[in-house]
Amino acid sequence: MLEIPNHTHQKAGEVSLEEIRDLLGDCKRCGLSEVRNNIVFGKGNPHARILIIGEAPGKNEDLEGKPFVGKAGKDLDKYLLEAGIDPNDIYIANVVKCRPPENRNPKAEEISTCTPFLREQIRSIWPDFIVTLGNFSSKFLLKTDKGITALRGQVFEIGHFKVLPIFHPAAAIYDRSKADYIKQDFALLKSLL
Ligand code: SF4
Repeated sequence: MLEIPNHTHQKAGEVSLEEIRDLLGDCKRCGLSEVRNNIVFGKGNPHARILIIGEAPGKNEDLEGKPFVGKAGKDLDKYLLEAGIDPNDIYIANVVKCRPPENRNPKAEEISTCTPFLREQIRSIWPDFIVTLGNFSSKFLLKTDKGITALRGQVFEIGHFKVLPIFHPAAAIYDRSKADYIKQDFALLKSLL
């Protein structure tokens, strides 16, 4: 399981994102390396106050090697802009960095192998806010069995970090009722900045 770093034993920015990326290399530490096209490390402002964490790369992300490309990515930018948050000011990553086949949930051993790198990214960026996008990321980061519907709209404090679970923009593509919740929750985030 991911241990979110605690500010009492780690200072921000001691290791750069470039160094963490170099350490990851052409990673073959878990079986997802056999089915991926590209590692999706993350993108954005290395000193962001907001870190957004999704589940895993999808098809387009795997092909391009970048997180949140395609419609969900465009929608995410739109929600951020509507809330008055510059998409260039955030950093985006996923729980695992390679696409699981057929977009299945990542397996426990894939998560335990990959997330030490995410933990190092969190330490490097040292955001004030972590947005967990969707069910999987929210349950995983908050170590809870509660689903995103129960978690959203709340702010959880984990050491230095404030964690806000928000519906994944992809969920609102097929269920427009979720779009209002996403807007509310990004407005809440903006009010806390
Ligand atoms: S998912 Fe993570 S641990 Fe597995 S191969 Fe990809 S980068 Fe390496």
